[in-house]
Amino acid sequence: MCNCDPKDVESLKERQCGLCAAAEKQAPGTVVFFAQDTNPRKPNRWLAMPRQHSPGMHLLGDLPLETRTELWREAIGKAKSLWGDQWGVATNGVKARTQCHVHIHIGRLIEGVEWGDFLVIDGPEEIPDPGNSGLWIHPAGAKLHVHTDEQVSETVLLR
Ligand SMILES: [Zn+2]
Ligand SMILES: [Zn+2]
Ligand SMILES: [Zn+2]
Repeated sequence: MCNCDPKDVESLKERQCGLCAAAEKQAPGTVVFFAQDTNPRKPNRWLAMPRQHSPGMHLLGDLPLETRTELWREAIGKAKSLWGDQWGVATNGVKARTQCHVHIHIGRLIEGVEWGDFLVIDGPEEIPDPGNSGLWIHPAGAKLHVHTDEQVSETVLLR
């Protein structure tokens, strides 16, 4: 649980609220922004985030549907621009997250990963609300696979 309040700058100094502070620095009116993963062990990773905060642990489902769709669309666009057709995007479940603010991991899909339950969809507007769990998405021909029901999803991406 997180008690941060974007209107209270002091409350964003908690370690787990670092991405909230980054969101606050974006120009008003920004919907989605990107940042390189600051973890030195993940030099190839980017994050896509909404400017908008949600209370507590910031569930994806707390965002308006249009914002969520825009977030996925932009994350996938960035992933494609970096990694061509080897891209992957992932979000961890609430239990596996070390930052409260919603963030999508962007990276290169590790060669050959394909496991668990998945949906086959046509585009970002069909990505389901993962609730408390995580999901990871990668291209499969002209379609997308959405792999669901995993807390730790970002491990399918190259560090
Ligand atoms: Zn927080
Ligand atoms: Zn936040
Ligand atoms: Zn798949």
